[in-house]
Amino acid sequence: MEERDRIESLISVLNETYGPVPWWDAPFDEVAVGAILTQQTRWENVEAALTRLRSAGLNTLSAIAAADPADLESCIRCTGFYRVKSARLHQLATFFLDQYHEMKEIDLIPTDLLRRSLLTVNGVGEETADSILCYGLFRETFVIDAYTRRICTCAGVSLTDDQLRRIFLSALGSDNRLLRSCHGQIVEYAKEYCSKKRCQECRIRILHE
Ligand code: SF4
Repeated sequence: MEERDRIESLISVLNETYGPVPWWDAPFDEVAVGAILTQQTRWENVEAALTRLRSAGLNTLSAIAAADPADLESCIRCTGFYRVKSARLHQLATFFLDQYHEMKEIDLIPTDLLRRSLLTVNGVGEETADSILCYGLFRETFVIDAYTRRICTCAGVSLTDDQLRRIFLSALGSDNRLLRSCHGQIVEYAKEYCSKKRCQECRIRILHE
């Protein structure tokens, strides 16, 4: 089976297993913040930090850009690497506020150009940029994270992140709901099967055989 066929089979298995999964439905500012906070930590810690940021009134990019770093660090300490992440949040907030004054200005920027710009921000790698674009801005891109890589490898597809992203985009098309949902299904599968080492029951591994 070719890589593209394996990915299509993987998508079918995920659809049969979960159906549509609404994934990370949150305001843009919180998606951008969460995309930084989720680096090298579990999502439960991100949720705890977002709750603290909301309570402190620091859950918007404009508030973060103006915040005292100590206040920001205090709210996000539970996500680890909090000093680095605090600086990254400030840089990301400044980037959006300096470059784009209103959401409608961002809406005018083509996805590839916006992605390249985001990747120039310190601390924003491809996974973070694609999370912001896909979940925060409803753009046509796909998030390749550790879960995606692992499951694709088990399905017999070992490619670069960029190759994987392109195949998923080609297989799923431009509908942002499908792109969000598919990544949500991957995360659900990873939590339900991979993390619990239920490999003997895995329908994805069979695609490799
Ligand atoms: S359950 Fe096991 S075999 Fe299946 S995708 Fe996860 S790690 Fe791979």
